[in-house]
Formats: sequence, structure tokens, C-alpha cells
Amino acid sequence: MEMFRPDALELIRRKRHNFDQISEFCRSPKAFLKHMDAVGLDRGVLINYVAPEVIGFTSEVNQWIADYVKENPARLISCGGLHPRQSHNILADVEQILRLKIRMIKIHPPHQLLFPNDYLNGVKELEVIYRAAEANGIPVMFHTGTSIFQGARNRYGDPIFADDVAVDFPKMKIILAHGGRPLWMHTAFFLLRRHPNVYLDISGIPPKALLKYFPRLEEIAHKTLFGTDWPGPGVPDIKKNLSDFRALPLKEEVKQQILGKTALSIWPA
Ligand SMILES: [Zn+2]
Repeated sequence: MEMFRPDALELIRRKRHNFDQISEFCRSPKAFLKHMDAVGLDRGVLINYVAPEVIGFTSEVNQWIADYVKENPARLISCGGLHPRQSHNILADVEQILRLKIRMIKIHPPHQLLFPNDYLNGVKELEVIYRAAEANGIPVMFHTGTSIFQGARNRYGDPIFADDVAVDFPKMKIILAHGGRPLWMHTAFFLLRRHPNVYLDISGIPPKALLKYFPRLEEIAHKTLFGTDWPGPGVPDIKKNLSDFRALPLKEEVKQQILGKTALSIWPA
């Protein structure tokens, strides 16, 4: 919580009734694991990224999450990040990610103010990141879709800019977080079908609206991951998301695939 910019923290504080509980989970992985038991979650990917302009996070999030998941690395999967344009030494930052055994990198275009394919426009740091991710089997997640934080720029949220990345780095697993919600679901669906290395994360999409956004979800289920975006603003409760998802009119095997199997194929137990 100390790493937030005051305005971003204020937005979260306003939108979250159980702010104190979440602060406690940030301090104590033991408390969070207990919460996972209570809501019925075996494993969780804990999303962190670097966004000094909008949220306040710097690359210190990487050491933080690496320490945090030590409590139970089988159940807590670390996601860290780096900032392609603001990094002073991108090679050192990439090495830190590898040394800490971070298991996913999140790039947040609307908060980092760049396009995923900006390595084609001179942001060479992005290429360094993707090469390292590809060579070391680390998936890269892009935030796709809008963001309401002050200073976020939403044109960067269009998933189409990940198309170049999928073409140029065919062995790198690319996860489109939030499926381009709410403006670009068609683009996300196309990219999933077009590229074997592109995956969908359904976090941030209310489960009740999921089939409205992705009516052909079953076709891409083998590359779709369940997630919630909790404790992000607008996601009150993991347990409720899980039960709403389980209530969807999908085949049981499709639900099992999205709830667990896809994630197991990316991060084997
Ligand atoms: Zn996101």
C-alpha cells in the first residue's frame, strides 16, 4: 500500500469497503492463503506491475512479490513487471526478474503509456523484455481494455497492438488480460483464434456478462484462464465470481478447463 500514489490509493480506498482486510493480506501471505481456503481457491497469480506515472509502482514490486510467494510457491504465483521507457537499465531489470524467478511479466499499456508493439517505433527495451521472456519461458500479460485511473490513456488498451508481438515472438506466451473489455472483445477473440501463443484471461469481466462478451468462448476454452482482478475496483468478492462462473451454461469440461487446466498448462503444479 505504501507503494501507491496518493490519488490512486484514494480511488481504491473509496471503492473498497474491506480496505483494511486487503491491507492485512498485503502484509501477510499467511492471512491471504487462509482467505484463499475460505473462498475455494487452490492457486492464484498475484499481479504486480511497474507504473510510476499512474499508480506509483516502481520495480521494487518485484522483490516484494518474490518474497511474498515464498510462503507457498505452489499456490502463490508471482507476476512482476518492468517499465520499458522508464527503466534506467533494462538488462539489469530483466536479470532481476529472472533471478527472482518471477513467473509472469505484466505490461500495462494504458498505465505505462505505450503500445505493446512499440519496439517497432524505437522502444528497444520492449524487444529486450520479450526476447528474455521468450527464451526463459515466462509468459507476458498485457492489460487490454479500458482503465479508469487518473492519467490512464485508453487508446493503449486496444489488443490489436499485441498482434505484432504474437507474430514477432511466436514462442512467447501472450495473455490478454480482461479480453479487451468493454470495447475490443472482437479483436481479442480474433487474436486468440489467429495465434497459437495468445491466451485469454477473463479477469475483470463480470462472469454474468462473460458469454455476452464472448459468445463463442467454448472455441477458445483451451487457451482461456479464469481470474477475477480482485481486489481491483469493481470486483467485490472472489467467491461470488467463482459461483457466478460455475452457474454459466457451459459444459462441465469447459468450466474445468478455464478454472484450472489452462493455468496448469502454463504453470505446471
Ligand atoms: Zn489489468
